[in-house]
Amino acid sequence: MAKLQKPEFIYFERQIRPWDDAKIHVSAEAVFRGLNCFEGLKAYWQNDGSMGVVSLQRHYERFKRSAKLLRMPFDYSWEEFEDAVHGIIKALCRPENNIWVRATLYMMEGHWGEDQRTDLCLQAFQTSTDRPEPITIGVSTWKRAEDNMLPPRIKTSSNYQVARMAKIEGRERGFSEMVILNSKDRVAETGGSCVLIVRDGVVATPPASEGVLESITVDLVEALARERGIPFERRPIDRTELHIAEEIALAGTLSELTPVSAVDDYPVEGNSRILSDLTDAYFEMVTEGHPMAGLSCRNYQDESDT
Ligand code: PMP
Repeated sequence: MAKLQKPEFIYFERQIRPWDDAKIHVSAEAVFRGLNCFEGLKAYWQNDGSMGVVSLQRHYERFKRSAKLLRMPFDYSWEEFEDAVHGIIKALCRPENNIWVRATLYMMEGHWGEDQRTDLCLQAFQTSTDRPEPITIGVSTWKRAEDNMLPPRIKTSSNYQVARMAKIEGRERGFSEMVILNSKDRVAETGGSCVLIVRDGVVATPPASEGVLESITVDLVEALARERGIPFERRPIDRTELHIAEEIALAGTLSELTPVSAVDDYPVEGNSRILSDLTDAYFEMVTEGHPMAGLSCRNYQDESDT
């Protein structure tokens, strides 16, 4: 496992501060009840020397939806949020490198929903510009909760307890990632990404109602597929379809498009190039300022917005 980075700066209480200054009391709701919601963002070094955050506005909208569903106050305008994200990236980015940002809204005060106060925290970490290598995955014994239990649509850390358990289970069984099934024993997602499969030349992924986060990456891949005339379906997927798919990839802002070479020790035959071609298109889109990527770009050298 890669060691967690300790960056020099962090955004906390509406300011960029030294990392060690971001402190929360143990009695805060964020700690005691684990109450937060968050987003994982990725900024790519662009060919023109600017940094471009993929679909930042869509992440902001989903962030607000998570807060709304959890009844957490979210009092950051789009402009303030965008400035804050670029502020922490500017403080920590290195030329020619990519960076990922974890934006978390913590519940600082407010017992059982009364007199609530939240705070936005931004952490940013260096990432490699290498594309993800193929991985082997398994199917977890843990299940996704349903919409009326712990809605998978809400990106909150309580939803990731099962992801953590599945990850540990997978590590013990020699898998890099684990697919989590829903209560109907159909494919939901992995702990941190969506599942894309190809069968008979058609790309398929489960819809949100199967217990999946509303993924921004999947929408981008769907748009790329449609642009190329490749059929793309959102439909329930059985576990056994993972064992006979022609191609599989995991999709997410941070996992990008990660090829899967085997599921539960069943090799993916790889007799399709649809997802690998879409992966090439995805990386081109996020690094070359393609309008479909919805990049929020800034060039910190001259501070002019592009
Ligand atoms: N499912 C889960 C559980 C995730 O954590 C993520 C990553 N945010 C995704 C799917 C993919 O979502 P997105 O493409 O918006 O990053």
